[in-house]
Amino acid sequence: MPSIAPDLMAKYEPVIGLEVHVQLATRTKIFCGCPTSFGAPPNTNVCPVCLGLPGALPVLSRQAVELGIEAALALHCTVNPKSIFARKNYFYPDLPKGYQISQYDQPLAERGFVEVEVEGAKKRIGITRVHMEDDAGKSIHDGFRDSSRYTYVDLNRSGTPLIEIVTEPDIRSSDEAFAFLTQLKQILQYVEVSSCDMEKGHLRCDANVSVRLRGAEKFGTKAEVKNLNSFRFLKMALDHEIERQVDLIETGGRVTQETRLFNVETGETVSMRSKESAHDYRYFPEPDLVPLRVSESWMARIRSDMPELPAARRERFIEQYALTEYNADVLTATRVTGDYFEKTAAVSGDARAAANWVMGDLAALLKEQGTEIIESPVSAENLGGLIKLIAQGKISGKIAKEILPKMLSSGDAADVIAEREGLHQISDTGALEKIVDEVIAANPKQVEQYRGGKQTVIAFLVGQVMKASRGQADPAAVNTLLKGKLV
Ligand code: ADP
Ligand code: ZN
Ligand code: MG
Repeated sequence: MPSIAPDLMAKYEPVIGLEVHVQLATRTKIFCGCPTSFGAPPNTNVCPVCLGLPGALPVLSRQAVELGIEAALALHCTVNPKSIFARKNYFYPDLPKGYQISQYDQPLAERGFVEVEVEGAKKRIGITRVHMEDDAGKSIHDGFRDSSRYTYVDLNRSGTPLIEIVTEPDIRSSDEAFAFLTQLKQILQYVEVSSCDMEKGHLRCDANVSVRLRGAEKFGTKAEVKNLNSFRFLKMALDHEIERQVDLIETGGRVTQETRLFNVETGETVSMRSKESAHDYRYFPEPDLVPLRVSESWMARIRSDMPELPAARRERFIEQYALTEYNADVLTATRVTGDYFEKTAAVSGDARAAANWVMGDLAALLKEQGTEIIESPVSAENLGGLIKLIAQGKISGKIAKEILPKMLSSGDAADVIAEREGLHQISDTGALEKIVDEVIAANPKQVEQYRGGKQTVIAFLVGQVMKASRGQADPAAVNTLLKGKLV
């Protein structure tokens, strides 16, 4: 495809709506007691229900519903007091029932939003609906062997609980789509609804894309792009699809409503099939499940158990700890980081210093080791303890920077290491005085100069004392002591 001139591209406005599937972090499947654990040998986490055997009946998982409700509330949706499961019928080798149990005209929740910020501008992306459904199994294409082609079916994933989150066509660029998915992932991870691990397929995204002339009222015809299993691919696929549609229209063609597949190798989207519409699925209410009813009191309990959401936490960090917006962003990036920072701040009694240590030295050391903060060998209590030692004048900032890597390798507390290695600041004036006297005796020339009026020489003498004390003297105390002795 030729690359399109920027002024031609600028004539058009992209319109994007996303459909995101999220695997809920339940221990068991949505309609049976089989485990959802990842990586088990093929077809071992299965039973008559998730194998779709005749006569087996589904029983809805309470935990899955609670996680679905939490997600809906975190996305500012209205949770419907009554929702209905529906059969979505289609044939596929990894769908043993011959239908998916989903929700159709009465979903779990509707009408929410996610706030995103792109290039400094804040914007709300509407959430049309959140509904619950079960996942299909997996087909594994094994290529050729014995001059035949093999495809295997693994039904471990069959019956895994999902929510599908559908956005309004509110997104206007690939950057906005990227920002939306980033926020969505952060929110869902905060409320621990899902790990959102894209590599494991716990977060999967399809994009609906159309373009229209800027200023036009009516939306253009959309194409659906599937298989966007990383943030980078989402952006690449959208950019490619937007260009493809503009090129098509500019050369007299028309966009057809279809499903396209993003090809990771070529960076292009290719037509997969014509878009199926609702009637192709022959939806009807699932006869084996009663309507799902969510009472006010159940919802209130779930709401009260939910943690603070990232946006609120960001605001609070700026207020409560006087952090910059940037620092608040970094420190609320994950719930674990935020918790770690808050504990460090509480123990140390100095939030600014805590922010600097968490984002600076600690982050650098963890990165070097390839360790995540959740498994940091330095606990928040211990980092707070280190900062406190500086504030109390027991160690210098310089010594603290030397102690931190030792805390990382040993897991010990700062004062334990300082004690063991004799790194505490010398607070005993007798000991300090002795070093000062020695330095004065060893540097007659500089002492002479100082007494002769060259005040700046004091810095050299302080330096000598610091060196002799292996950095353990308090420079301010040394300065005072020296001046007292040199008059
Ligand atoms: P369908 O009936 O084809 O499934 P929906 O109206 O249910 O279409 O919308 C599915 C998704 O496509 C939603 O995320 C919606 O925001 C998005 N969408 C709808 N119309 C357009 C359009 N013209 N351009 C881009 N996205 C669209
Ligand atoms: Zn099962
Ligand atoms: Mg639809």
